[in-house]
Amino acid sequence: MTDAKVYAVIHKTDAERAAAPDSEQAQYRPADLPDGGLNIAHEAVDRHVADGYGEQIAIRWLGRDGGRAEISYAQLALDAARFANVLNTHGLVRGDRLFALMGRVPALYAAALGTLKAGLSFTPMFAAFGPEPIRSRMEIGSASVLLTTAALYRRKIADWRHELPGLKRVLIIGEDVPEDCVGLDAAMVGAADDFATVPTRADEMALLHFTSGTTGKPKGAVHVHGAVVAHAETGRIALDLHPGDVYWCTADPGWVTGTSYGIISPLVNRTTMIVDEAEFDLERWYGILEREKVQVWYTAPTAIRMMMRAGKAAAQGYDFSALRFLSSVGEPLNAECVIWAMEVFGKPFHDNWWQTETGGIMIANTPAMDIKPGSMGKPLPGITAAVVETEGQTLRKLDAGEIGELALRAGWPSMMRAYLHEEQRYAKCFVDGWYLTGDLALRDRDGYYWFVGRADDLIKSSGHLIGPFEVESALIEHDAVAEAAVVGIPDETAGEVVKAYVTLNAGYSADEALERDIRGHARKRLGSAVAPREIVFRHSLPKTRSGKIMRRLLRARELGLPEGDISTLESDDA
Ligand code: ATP
Ligand code: MG
Repeated sequence: MTDAKVYAVIHKTDAERAAAPDSEQAQYRPADLPDGGLNIAHEAVDRHVADGYGEQIAIRWLGRDGGRAEISYAQLALDAARFANVLNTHGLVRGDRLFALMGRVPALYAAALGTLKAGLSFTPMFAAFGPEPIRSRMEIGSASVLLTTAALYRRKIADWRHELPGLKRVLIIGEDVPEDCVGLDAAMVGAADDFATVPTRADEMALLHFTSGTTGKPKGAVHVHGAVVAHAETGRIALDLHPGDVYWCTADPGWVTGTSYGIISPLVNRTTMIVDEAEFDLERWYGILEREKVQVWYTAPTAIRMMMRAGKAAAQGYDFSALRFLSSVGEPLNAECVIWAMEVFGKPFHDNWWQTETGGIMIANTPAMDIKPGSMGKPLPGITAAVVETEGQTLRKLDAGEIGELALRAGWPSMMRAYLHEEQRYAKCFVDGWYLTGDLALRDRDGYYWFVGRADDLIKSSGHLIGPFEVESALIEHDAVAEAAVVGIPDETAGEVVKAYVTLNAGYSADEALERDIRGHARKRLGSAVAPREIVFRHSLPKTRSGKIMRRLLRARELGLPEGDISTLESDDA
């Protein structure tokens, strides 16, 4: 890896270290319910109300068109209880499965908590999904109830709704309720205020979350109520969440980040969380950071690179002084992005790594740690990680500096308990008590982990193993390059050669001279064996709705192969 040599470590000051959460000490003790049950909804809201914090604002909601609402913990608890009563009234009980298809409005958050409170499992979907991805997820997940809006229902669901025999009810938020659906607003008004939280077991299903579909058909990962312990602790240790903090997670709940760290962790840690209904917009986002005095911000590399593309000047004039802790997840965070944030926000981004399957953050640059830009950080307390090589059922741990598959010792509370209906696929993730992540990484001598690429994306060229991330990071160091995706394409002599797809920053035109210049830069930076042989300019890169570059799609097209599952594809503008 070249990154480690090029970028200086960002050292934490003594004051920063002193203020960092104590990670040696696991502090979170869930409040047992009667019968010894453990329920996420109780931990997230009711517990704080019981402790006297009902007046604190839980959600500060920012509407797409300038609307605003503040929902206290007491109000959220009340709305969740009413929602739980509505479910029971309609015959929906513990063990049933609720799917949500709607935008980020307060009712979604109350519904998520009410669902868990009533002992049903919760599955949020991106409102922008088309009918087919919605239907297949609801089929796989045996949905018993759907929460959506009239417009989304008519456009995407009505045609096939009656072909899902298990779907007992469709709840509609807002007016104009279709005939065969239940109007939620009216039902909530008539619902009782009290609901005795179902004393779910720690190992009882709470969430069904589908993976992003970056490498293939999305898998349905099953998560349990006991995961809340991990959500609480990782939010505290890796994201620096303190009670009362203003916290903004930019992810939609349709992506696991928007549930684990966009609903559960911030509420359990009693923060005030910003929920923005709108999509990414540069001025809007800078405005929110300034006006709402966001202290802790959790976002993704795709957004950071969009900000970088707009240039530093666009950030000038905003006051970001409230920001205390910045973090990023979802895709490799190029060292460039970390450095850029230092200049623009006065604070670096802290990268962290996890997956839908792990339910919560596993590897992170925590508040106490020095940051090595380009590295994912170190395993959190309680997490044992290794870089391994497997052959059948034998697993060998590799030494520092060697590239292999990232593996985690199974057994932390937020670990998935199944891929729904895919027992074999699930079983294949485990060897000898280790969970295999499907990602390639290396560990340096200081114990920091560096992302290399997805196992499927590794390129083998003339005897070199090339991770796409390293090449992409080198490419975006070039002034003209905004984003890059790198794939291997077959070559008679080298086995594979590197091909890059890039988008450009404003003010650059895609021509041969620029292509040569970028290739020259990459050769100098990486050596000719690793640098891309060819560079293709694009307006955007194909990405999932959770903002992940779909390299497999670029490769499939390059080779004239079938595109595979593209149900989560969002942008794709050649
Ligand atoms: P699928 O499993 O369906 O192909 P996916 O793996 O993209 O989709 P998610 O669970 O949303 O679905 O994403 C987890 C993956 O995202 C990780 O396995 C890793 O490849 C990538 N990732 C997450 N955080 C980071 C990070 N900090 N650095 C590098 N990669 C990351
Ligand atoms: Mg995955």
